[in-house]
Amino acid sequence: MSPRQAMTPPCLLAELAAPATKRERIAVLLTSTPFYRAASAGRRLNRAAPVLAAAAATRTSFVGGHARGQLGTAVRRATTTTKPKSTREMTKKRAAQKKSGDGGEAPTIAHAPDEVIPAGFDQTRTKLLTQTVMPREKKTDMENPCIVYWMMRDCRTVDNHALLFAQGLATKYQVPLRVVFTLPPPPSSAPGEGADGSPPKPEDMSLTLRHGDFLLDGLKVVAEELEAANVPLDVLQPACRTAVGTETIRYCINRNDALALVCDMSPLRQPRDWIETQTVPHLGQQVPVYQVDAHNIVPVWRASPKREVGARTLRPKINNVFAKYCTQFAEFAGNAHLAAEKVDAENQHDWEQYRRYLRLDESIEPVVGYVAGHEAAMERFREFCSTKLKNFDSMRNDPNQDVCSNLSPWINHGQVSFQRLALEVRALKKHTNGTAAYIEEGVVRRELSDNFVYYTPSSYDSLEGAADWARDSLQLHSTDKREYVYTWKVLETGMTHDDLWNAAQLQLVREGKMHGFLRMYWAKKVLEWTVSPAYALATAQYFNDRYALDGNDPNGFVGVGWSIMGIHDMGWKERDVFGKIRFMNYAGCRRKFKVDTFVARYRGAKENANKVAPAGEKVAGKKRKSV
Ligand SMILES: Cc1cc2nc3c(=O)[nH]c(=O)nc-3n(C[C@H](O)[C@H](O)[C@H](O)COP(=O)(O)OP(=O)(O)OC[C@H]3O[C@@H](n4cnc5c(N)ncnc54)[C@H](O)[C@@H]3O)c2cc1C
Repeated sequence: MSPRQAMTPPCLLAELAAPATKRERIAVLLTSTPFYRAASAGRRLNRAAPVLAAAAATRTSFVGGHARGQLGTAVRRATTTTKPKSTREMTKKRAAQKKSGDGGEAPTIAHAPDEVIPAGFDQTRTKLLTQTVMPREKKTDMENPCIVYWMMRDCRTVDNHALLFAQGLATKYQVPLRVVFTLPPPPSSAPGEGADGSPPKPEDMSLTLRHGDFLLDGLKVVAEELEAANVPLDVLQPACRTAVGTETIRYCINRNDALALVCDMSPLRQPRDWIETQTVPHLGQQVPVYQVDAHNIVPVWRASPKREVGARTLRPKINNVFAKYCTQFAEFAGNAHLAAEKVDAENQHDWEQYRRYLRLDESIEPVVGYVAGHEAAMERFREFCSTKLKNFDSMRNDPNQDVCSNLSPWINHGQVSFQRLALEVRALKKHTNGTAAYIEEGVVRRELSDNFVYYTPSSYDSLEGAADWARDSLQLHSTDKREYVYTWKVLETGMTHDDLWNAAQLQLVREGKMHGFLRMYWAKKVLEWTVSPAYALATAQYFNDRYALDGNDPNGFVGVGWSIMGIHDMGWKERDVFGKIRFMNYAGCRRKFKVDTFVARYRGAKENANKVAPAGEKVAGKKRKSV
């Protein structure tokens, strides 16, 4: 496999190979030379100039007038952006980014001490977050000595490393295990649009009814399973977003006597703020906080100590230790160590009241076909293995074929562990190619997303998180004339000139999930048809996280980031609007699958396109017929 292929998502390899002529491929390689990139970034221009000129001359002889024009534009633009002021600004920005911890090497990880590691548990799966190392001593005057597991990302009782670790501690110290879950506090006021008119950030909004229902239904299952294991589930409802830490501390210190707090790991901003900023500095003076990565097969801090360039650099690191981590789970025994002693929850659960607390956005309704909980996920997984796995490697990029697992909502809500799915799919020993592709997506690609977000904590969702070449190139092209410009409100209704885009958007809005291949095309068109890259990023993230049941996840930030700001990708042939970000078009989709068949499934998609584009006008790669 060539280095270029290694950096390319498998789903696009065919795309890459199919349309490109030898000449086009050579042209693309030329635009990817380090000097070419440097010139576009406005750096090392003097050294780059002769090379660029030579490259331009060589390329024009290969690719003809159109590309010649483009390269000329690129050189001119590069020259105009090398003003010392903007260079200084960029350097300053990058220094600030380094200071924020984005992309840098992590300091050596402190793990939970040997003394508290249950037999058979891998210590490197844990991270000690506090100065306090050992659990508090159990004293006779303590009313409710216990071990608390703060369940956040991994909402399940089966195959949950964090829960198993907490259970091990409770058994060792002969105290009850309690599980606490914090409902995400809704914002005190509804967030407005961005200064540029872009949509609000989903993380600043209340959950949608679609997500809230799935979360609460999943939590109900957890409550029942915990009760069967004599473990109470307490649900916290903090007064506001900044009160999560105090509420947790009260729970651990005032209402109970936690000897230690165990939490799981999400690299997203909100849970990190709850744990690292609001809780650890205060609780950590008395009570140790142990974090356990229960989501990744190879713990994110173990897979790599830094932000990886892409799948090709993370893959070997994961492969080297995969067998060590992808092992069978211990069975969850709950409070079996307490014999007959019953451990009660603080309150009876009032699921309707929880729902009211969340102030769910009812305009985004639940979708059919997604039943929350581990069992429902496993049922779907087994059906996937028996009917779809055999074609997964060859057909998963065809939106008309139903061969994908559609399990991402359960995985992302923590209702099923991908480690369980990996163990089972490998144990089948069938469909070697399908299995390999499934493991590649579910392990390498998924864990790469966590790697990016974990090591880019302050800017994983903004252009600041992009690589220098991508950010600079997007900036250079941010004022290029767009053929179509839509506002996010128009896009939301699937009302563009492109019937395929409309169909993809309607699939997302109506079904709560868009096919994985279309997600790439869809997000790239948002870049192409909105006023600026920043607006495009905010828009795609908004749709993805408001409508997709698997949204609000590192995979979403990276998927959108890959499409719009070249995360984990490389520079491609420079073109208007996209700069060096990889381009996708309608004609490419036509070559891959039957676009009309897909469009016909979504009532309104074609009609909307016909309304927007006058009959007969050439749009989206084909002549549109009269309505
Ligand atoms: C613009 C854009 C937005 C995206 N938003 C999300 C999102 O919000 N949530 C989300 O989970 N994924 C997202 N993805 C990644 C991918 O499209 C989905 O994970 C996949 O479509 C989920 O469907 P599935 O469960 O049927 O996956 P399958 O094809 O069955 O794959 C199996 C599992 O592998 C993982 N996976 C598959 N593809 C990827 C990928 N490209 N990157 C990381 N993990 C992957 C998922 O956990 C998935 O469940 C996005 C991709 C793009 C390009």
